Amino acid sequence: FAKRALQGKAVLFNAALEQEMANSSQVDKALRRCDYDSEFQLHFQPQFDLVKGRIIGFEALARWNSPELGAVTPDIFIPAAERAGLIRPLTQVLLGKALTAMASWPDEITLAFNLSTHDLMSPHAVESALATVRNSGIEPSRIEFEITETAMMSDFNQARRAIDQISEAGHRVSLDDFGIGYSSLQYLQLLPVSKLKIDHSFVRNILEDTAAFKIVRTLLSLSRTLGLGCVVEGVETEAQMHILRTMGARHIQGYLIGAPMPAASIPSALNQTYDFNPVRGRPGPADA
Ligand code: C2E
Ligand code: MG
Ligand code: MG
Ligand code: MG
Repeated sequence: FAKRALQGKAVLFNAALEQEMANSSQVDKALRRCDYDSEFQLHFQPQFDLVKGRIIGFEALARWNSPELGAVTPDIFIPAAERAGLIRPLTQVLLGKALTAMASWPDEITLAFNLSTHDLMSPHAVESALATVRNSGIEPSRIEFEITETAMMSDFNQARRAIDQISEAGHRVSLDDFGIGYSSLQYLQLLPVSKLKIDHSFVRNILEDTAAFKIVRTLLSLSRTLGLGCVVEGVETEAQMHILRTMGARHIQGYLIGAPMPAASIPSALNQTYDFNPVRGRPGPADA
């Protein structure tokens, strides 16, 4: 019986795997024949300054509405575009859309734009992105590029050249999803990044889990010590926001302030007032 049960499992597993492979080849196919300009949109998620009490910028997040597949999430289509060798043209289309949206924003509002590791690995792709920004006439200091550690792992020297190239053009570079990859501390020492984004997985349990609390507190203190900016991602509740504030966090991003929204909703998000009342009581897990 045990053997039969195991065989059954193996069959199920293979079926699931096959299904997944079929889906991903469907995604690849749809990507190859789709029209980027009409099928891809950007949503923008606010980044909030707890000291100023207002939104200071937006992160552009890509959305794909495929006529064949429906809504596909970026965690699926970004890796698919990388596999298919289509990420660079997609990045260019998305960056163009971000710059168009930005043209109607107030001057002090910044844009954070995600670059794929594949973009960073090509000096030519980086130069095209920088040229697109230059041609828009938007002040480069208003645009920062988010990169992940995968880039450093795939070719450290090229990653460093790309970051230099971006910084020399007057942009800041942030290290996204900080804390979930490998050897982050060494990269921090060697790379001219100016900001860390603490991954949302650490924030999720910050109220209940002493370890998560301590990790976030340590990452915040690390960024201060190194003179880097820091954005805490995935802040969903006022309680999380208050505890982060007691740790000295200044910049937050997450559903509490706003989910990623279409460009048309930005003016009303900027007009909204955000007043978070100070919360009484214990600032964190008892023994932290
Ligand atoms: P990311 O850059 O770390 O973006 C943050 C992700 O967290 C977004 O997922 C966002 O919708 C989600 N998020 C925001 N607030 C909250 C919250 O309060 N709680 C939780 N649990 N999640 C929150 P999204 O939009 O699905 O994007 C996933 C990833 O796909 C991004 O992670 C980024 O790595 C990649 N991506 C998205 N757009 C682009 C793009 O235009 N180019 C590239 N290369 N990558 C992109
Ligand atoms: Mg990002
Ligand atoms: Mg992130
Ligand atoms: Mg992510």
